[in-house]
Amino acid sequence: MFKLSKKLQALPPYLFLEMDKAKRQARAEGRDIIDLGIGDPDQPTPKYIIEALYRAALDPANHRYALDQGMPVLRRAIESWYKRRFNVSLNPDSEILPLIGSKEGIAHFPLAFLNPGDYSLVPDPCYPPYKGGTILAGGKPYLMPLLKENAFLPDLKKIPFNARKKAKIIFINYPNNPTSAVVQQSFYQELIDFARKNKIIIISDLAYSEIYFDGYKPQSILELDGAREVVVEFHSLSKTFNMTGWRVGWASGNKKLIAALAKVKSNIDSGIFSAVQLAGIAALSAPQEHIEHMCTLYQERRDLLVSGLNSLGWQVDSPKATFYLWIKLPKTCGSLKFAGDLLEQANIVVTPGVGFGKYGEGYIRMALTVNRERIREALDRLKSL
Ligand SMILES: *Cc1c(COP(=O)(O)O)cnc(C)c1O
Repeated sequence: MFKLSKKLQALPPYLFLEMDKAKRQARAEGRDIIDLGIGDPDQPTPKYIIEALYRAALDPANHRYALDQGMPVLRRAIESWYKRRFNVSLNPDSEILPLIGSKEGIAHFPLAFLNPGDYSLVPDPCYPPYKGGTILAGGKPYLMPLLKENAFLPDLKKIPFNARKKAKIIFINYPNNPTSAVVQQSFYQELIDFARKNKIIIISDLAYSEIYFDGYKPQSILELDGAREVVVEFHSLSKTFNMTGWRVGWASGNKKLIAALAKVKSNIDSGIFSAVQLAGIAALSAPQEHIEHMCTLYQERRDLLVSGLNSLGWQVDSPKATFYLWIKLPKTCGSLKFAGDLLEQANIVVTPGVGFGKYGEGYIRMALTVNRERIREALDRLKSL
């Protein structure tokens, strides 16, 4: 009787559904599952942030609607974090917009700029909201394959004239989920030139800027000349401070683009719980030690899992950032089947690459969000397969 809208019908199928179901069932059967599937930090939110939330939650002034899109004090904390971290100066009133998690802003942004039939240039494999947000805004994702031979960067030269004409937005995400690839400045410069020439907005998703190893340190695209004309960058406290459940992120960059997103949001949500915003300030103002500690933790897990898998004959590259391994499978095997078999035979959950898009087929993703003891156990199970 009730027919789904064309937009909802056009959304890509949720390929993780089957995996989720199988995982739940395995747990219900009492099997000891090692979950390398989810990109959600296993460590708790640092205590000083929780205490800031508690103090703020006691104050009735924080119980009401959070007026404005983001408290001025939070915007200023973001401003000074940007200055310290990237040496980029932003205007807190016009160039920073707090979000209810960055996914929310990423998914809503296309509503501000796409008309029916317009394109977004979307990397594939990718974080699903780039496609979902585009389709829900009536646009079409134009896929840019991320291939190993191109270091998992989109090849801008291969985007045809017609697609450049129709495109309003290009999404990029480095350090990348799911491939864990990183970029150098030269790519950002090429991208900015491409975007200015073709009048395309750059959405740079920098969710993993604080998870890095081996002397590599991610940059913000806003550090580059000309970026401020065409860029909105999305950030989040989720991965940096183990705050995925809290829902705090922000957009920063070109003020007209930020204002357009704010207008969309003012019609949809009523801001972030003020106490959470104040806790977010505590997070951003914290000493650097938490970041160092977190990177060391993931690095130890990375080294253990990469060397363990390689000693089993897998061929796994060691990522310079993010908490993911992006692992090529033997040619003959589909990633859904591989992941399903691994769950059945070893009680290990991994994410099939095809769930991130068709160019993710042939890969699986493992997340470093379990402790070393469990990684050792996972390696033992793989060894005995
Ligand atoms: C985890 C993640 C985010 C962060 O999402 P939040 O909504 O801020 O929790 C954004 N982009 C990518 C690619 C991610 O993996």
